[in-house]
Amino acid sequence: MDTKTHSKPSVPAVKPAERVEAHEENPWRQAMEQLDRAGKAMKLEPFALERLRHPKRILTVSVPVKMDDGTVKVFEGYRIQHNMDRGPAKGGIRFHPQVSLDEVKALSFWMTMKCAVVNLPFGGAKGGVICDPKLMSKGELERMTRRYTAEISLIIGPDKDIPAPDVNTNEQVMAWMMDTYSMGLGYACPGVVTGKPLEIGGSLGRREATGRGVFYVTRELAARRGFDLRKAPIIVQGFGNVGSNAAKIFAEHGCKVVGISDVAGGLYDPKGLDVPDILHYRETHDTIAEYPKAEHVAVDKILEMPCDILIPAAMEGAITNVNAARIQAKVIVEGANGPTSNEADRILAAKGVTIVPDILANAGGVTVSYFEWVQDMQSYFWSEKDVNARLQDIIVAAFTDVYNIAEKEKVDMRVAAFMLGLGRLGKAATIRGMYP
Ligand code: NAD
Repeated sequence: MDTKTHSKPSVPAVKPAERVEAHEENPWRQAMEQLDRAGKAMKLEPFALERLRHPKRILTVSVPVKMDDGTVKVFEGYRIQHNMDRGPAKGGIRFHPQVSLDEVKALSFWMTMKCAVVNLPFGGAKGGVICDPKLMSKGELERMTRRYTAEISLIIGPDKDIPAPDVNTNEQVMAWMMDTYSMGLGYACPGVVTGKPLEIGGSLGRREATGRGVFYVTRELAARRGFDLRKAPIIVQGFGNVGSNAAKIFAEHGCKVVGISDVAGGLYDPKGLDVPDILHYRETHDTIAEYPKAEHVAVDKILEMPCDILIPAAMEGAITNVNAARIQAKVIVEGANGPTSNEADRILAAKGVTIVPDILANAGGVTVSYFEWVQDMQSYFWSEKDVNARLQDIIVAAFTDVYNIAEKEKVDMRVAAFMLGLGRLGKAATIRGMYP
């Protein structure tokens, strides 16, 4: 989510019916199908594969909150630790009306895979609260965040499970979580969450990290495929943390961003949008939908506008069997988690579209979260130059591994990324053995 202060809404939340209709399948089932597909393509210990079908730990909590009008509302929240074979669990917290247990399960599984693909010493986790933060005051949001944190404190901690921001959570939310957890201990514990403000142990470069990672993988793909990135028109769906920073970084590198959207509307200009001006506009507006200097396009249509590179950076289920055939991009770089359904994957593959999968493409965020955690544990902080250089090393190495596996095994990059991650997870599970 962006870093602006929460205020009462002028932007309507996504209407549930609209997303459910387009969301052809359940994200957990999608994730398990992906696992099956990759599992078949490689020889993996059956017990290692079977274990990944079952999250290690699922906590459901009720979160009572005193609202501004004096009533008490009880929200439902989750924290799921999917796998911890390679280290403490790691994954974001989402506040959204469409959070569900199966969504959080899928997101926690993708975190396990992602940390293994970029070879971080973490397992996967995810959390969420079913709520609409756009309809809540700042005070209500703070009280809900603090109570949710207190409820999940049973299982989180710097050595156990380290949350981070995701959709509709930001640096301020992470600060409340860190403060709540620290109050329980009696001393400051910055390592319990990442994506914090710099003043309390955040890392330079974390805010832009996911978008920067998206840029690095796209640049690597362009180099491998021999196309000029600066001549390839780009569309970014979603203008929150991931989308806005990706658009900014592509524009800073002389690339042409022709389309941008958020939940309320889309903008398109084949000559290229003025990204810094749109970022500036957004500082004082809840949405970019009314930005005056570009053609306005419907939220759903932005994905289908002419471009070479499409970066879905909003929610899962954006590209489905309903719209996949109409996508004009040659390359899709998944800034969001799970934006492409499995059926859409097949349709796009038949059209020759290359997909850089989420578990590689958006791994820049968790990579710099890892750096933040390391810095917090050592109380020794790095320069932004160091953060970005180390991020680049990790993302480029992971991209190279995935690309080479795809070429060698003649599989797409999603299967290749799963093969890389599953190989590491399988080895860890085998070496650790089965308890008791
Ligand atoms: P965010 O809350 O900062 O932003 C979400 C953006 O998506 C907003 O601009 C919102 O208006 C827009 N949006 C929502 N529904 C939309 C729709 N139907 N059409 C167009 N735009 C829509 O969230 P974020 O942190 O940027 O996360 C976006 C995606 O990236 C999620 O899938 C998240 O899991 C994933 N991700 C985030 C991070 C991170 O570091 N924040 C890291 C890896 C992956």
